[in-house]
Amino acid sequence: MGSDRSLADTSVTVVGGGFGGLSAACYLADAGADVTLLEKNEGMGGRASTLEADGFRFDMGPSWYLMPDVFERFFGHFDREPSDYYELEHLDPHYKVFFKDGDTVELPKEVGEAADLFDEYEDGGGEKLRDYLDESERNYEIAVDNFIYKDRSRLRNWLDTSVMRAAPIGLSMLGTMENHVHDRFENDKLRQILQYTLVFLGGSPKNTPALYSLMSHVDFNLGVYYPDGGMTGVADSVAEMARELGVETRTDEEVRRVRDGGRVVETTNGEYRADATVCDADYAHFEQEVLEDHQRAYDESYWESRTYAPSAFLVYWGVEGDVEPLEHHTLVLPTDWDEHFAKIFDDPGWPMDPAYYLCVPSKTDDGVAPDGHSNLFVLVPVASGLEDNPKIRERYKNKIVDDIAENTGVDIRDRVVYEKTFSVDDFAERYNSYEGTALGLAHTLRQTAFLRPSYKSSKLERLFYTGSYTNPGIGVPMCLVSGEHTANIVKDELG
Ligand SMILES: Cc1cc2nc3c(=O)[nH]c(=O)nc-3n(C[C@H](O)[C@H](O)[C@H](O)COP(=O)(O)OP(=O)(O)OC[C@H]3O[C@@H](n4cnc5c(N)ncnc54)[C@H](O)[C@@H]3O)c2cc1C
Repeated sequence: MGSDRSLADTSVTVVGGGFGGLSAACYLADAGADVTLLEKNEGMGGRASTLEADGFRFDMGPSWYLMPDVFERFFGHFDREPSDYYELEHLDPHYKVFFKDGDTVELPKEVGEAADLFDEYEDGGGEKLRDYLDESERNYEIAVDNFIYKDRSRLRNWLDTSVMRAAPIGLSMLGTMENHVHDRFENDKLRQILQYTLVFLGGSPKNTPALYSLMSHVDFNLGVYYPDGGMTGVADSVAEMARELGVETRTDEEVRRVRDGGRVVETTNGEYRADATVCDADYAHFEQEVLEDHQRAYDESYWESRTYAPSAFLVYWGVEGDVEPLEHHTLVLPTDWDEHFAKIFDDPGWPMDPAYYLCVPSKTDDGVAPDGHSNLFVLVPVASGLEDNPKIRERYKNKIVDDIAENTGVDIRDRVVYEKTFSVDDFAERYNSYEGTALGLAHTLRQTAFLRPSYKSSKLERLFYTGSYTNPGIGVPMCLVSGEHTANIVKDELG
């Protein structure tokens, strides 16, 4: 820390206090820059926002702490450790699945036990799982070494020798996840377990490349953790570290206009001049709503032709009593989930037989609900841009409450003491998210690595981007890495 002062005497404005913006701010400040971070909402963390009401504290966005190695590397760069800010609990089981045919499985934290479970569903299933995880681990290592920690956001970066050496494996990874998993497993439930992680990437088994089978290494081998204070506690920790490094954070400041090649931003409260601007706000929104026509690197047809990750229908509930037998993380899956994916990507509509996720952090953390109560939220992935209004939400919420009771046995109908819905229109309004997408650009083949939007504007010489639209992509760990790449590019240009 502190050895790289290449940005001393340089000032940078960061727009947006999500993990990407916070991370970029930390790396830039560490390199000596005078950094001011402007966030439109009342707190830092972006989609990792907190909702506090009636003694309940909800993580409104991310709730799975995955890839602990990435967090260690991130804090390590600043001579710190995650444990300087928060403790982690390795969840066991990692999660539970209720299949809608009445079957349930718990995915244990020990791979050996997971293999035994796979044996119960398919002859040789355990052995197949071990082989699958070996391959998944290799893909993870290739990805980490070649595509994640190294900036591969430009085509020429892909053509160097280390990437070409990885190519024989890489090429077989360009097929779909669906084919990849179907070639290796026969049982539909095991196939679903190996594919559900794609939801973290905003894609479906049909449109996500097999390279992302690496997510099974993330899930089974690296593990699923809960940070005390939840994921918003992690965001608070990164914001705290940013301030320790000298970053000035300002909330309730929305950037409305950019001038002078990216040196000046006009906000709802005034204007800021710096040597450069790094934008962590939703890229599609920023280009189309904040920048003027001649300042945009991508035209309207570019943004219209992208594949967006789903939005989500969320309900945060404070519930009297417990919600056994739900686990901290629970998935409820119809045995045929093709219709749900079709309602997201092919024929947008509210899914009638939905696959969804339930989170009960009060199973692990006493601080998120009053005594004798449970903190529960449901997340149903739905198409971005879907029509959303209070009437539709009320109907859909009732449907989901019935579905939970029918498939898990947990009936909350007379026990709800707090309730709030959050969906497509809220994503658009609260985070300026394009079409209300929850996650940004999906990780389809055409939107991976150097095919994601650029870190640097091709129109404004001093405007840079970071966060989930850029490389490496969606998810808290990836956004932390994007901040590092963006800071390095700013150093190359200005340092
Ligand atoms: C419901 C949900 C569940 C998720 N689950 C997980 C999970 O379990 N694990 C995981 O790792 N990831 C998860 N993710 C994904 C992860 O949260 C995101 O990929 C990541 O947080 C995005 O960070 P970001 O920096 O790209 O952008 P954001 O978090 O969107 O931050 C951008 C910030 O910019 C601000 N902004 C926008 N416009 C302006 C403007 N004009 N001026 C000033 N500020 C502006 C916004 O208010 C926002 O705070 C989830 C996301 C959601 C929504």
